[in-house]
Amino acid sequence: MKIICIGRNYTDHIKELNNQRPSDPVVFIKPDSAILPKDQDFYLPEFSKEIHYEVEVLVKIKKVGKHISSKFAHNYYDEIGLGIDFTARDLQTSLKEKGLPWEKAKGFDGAAVIGEWRSKSTYSDLNDIDFSLHKNDKVVQKGNTGLMLWKIDELIAYVSQYFMLKKGDVIFTGTPAGVGKIQANDYLSGELEGERLFNVKIR
Ligand code: ZN
Repeated sequence: MKIICIGRNYTDHIKELNNQRPSDPVVFIKPDSAILPKDQDFYLPEFSKEIHYEVEVLVKIKKVGKHISSKFAHNYYDEIGLGIDFTARDLQTSLKEKGLPWEKAKGFDGAAVIGEWRSKSTYSDLNDIDFSLHKNDKVVQKGNTGLMLWKIDELIAYVSQYFMLKKGDVIFTGTPAGVGKIQANDYLSGELEGERLFNVKIR
């Protein structure tokens, strides 16, 4: 399976400003080895002094598709989740400055936290789901899928132009404002519509 991540998919500004969105979503991939095994602690890697959390709503693809139109995208997923796109920000910044790819900063071991999955039918409107990240039991990020610049179905349409989607692929749909640094002994947990879907201890 592959993990397809979307960058810059939220604006701090209200919906009326959505017309200023960039012309295309930012897309990158994490390898499947980036998945943090369930119930395993996250170990801060030695190559970075600045690991950031990014809480994101996840979508699990249920069947093969390419060139999917956004009108039919809903047929390609049944499950919604929540996770963290861990990012070595210092490394990402230096790679960006050199115009180099981000993979080392985004695809390292443990950099993809994938929480429990919920049926999409749990939610009456997929474009109005609240989610949040808590660090040491204090809210550090809060978002709502209604504030996405590209909604889930639009993202599936967009990315499937470039990458054939396969059963089990996971899309990270981008993070809202409030990203920040973690340190050893921090404890992160994520909630989707008030329901806790993951806990991660930092080592
Ligand atoms: Zn992200």
